[in-house]
Amino acid sequence: MALVFIGVGSNMGDRLSNSVEALRRMASGIRILAVSSLYETEPHHDPSQPLYLNFVVKGETGMYPRGLLTFLQGIERDMGRKGKRDGLPRVIDLDILLYGDEIIRMRDLTIPHPLLHRRGFVLTPLSELDPGLRHPVLGRRVIELLEDLKDGKMVRPYLGRGWWKGLEPSLPSAKDI
Ligand code: AMP
Repeated sequence: MALVFIGVGSNMGDRLSNSVEALRRMASGIRILAVSSLYETEPHHDPSQPLYLNFVVKGETGMYPRGLLTFLQGIERDMGRKGKRDGLPRVIDLDILLYGDEIIRMRDLTIPHPLLHRRGFVLTPLSELDPGLRHPVLGRRVIELLEDLKDGKMVRPYLGRGWWKGLEPSLPSAKDI
């Protein structure tokens, strides 16, 4: 079993429903241990695009990294994500941020996620879940990376922990999630 952190974002359609739906679908292949608060964030590529809702999931999975990527891409596809190009609005975007402390550099898969340390919308929820977590390549804690980040992009709390409860009755009721 591997400890994984998945970054989730939506800036198209009903962003809250999309977030809950992604969580429900992820729970079929990942044992969910914790879900961060929901944050509303400014897009990086194109400031004229709608704001995102972002959160991070901490979970455990028996899937290998590439299998996990295929699983997440299947969810993106089934949920109607069309565009692959940067800057297009997204029904749902799922990124493998960390897979244990493994370092993976393949053509279509880089772990830790290459932008993890440069994105407030990732570092903020990640630090909320586990501030002492170390970036396996940079060797620094995520809370330090967040403190050093000066990208000027807005990341504001949207809904607190447990935001998905009541919206998704079929999710597993792990005590600390
Ligand atoms: P994005 O538009 O951010 O969803 O990026 C999608 C592309 O990034 C896919 O073609 C993936 O193969 C590739 N990719 C590389 N590393 C990762 C990762 N850690 N998590 C998710 N996608 C990744």
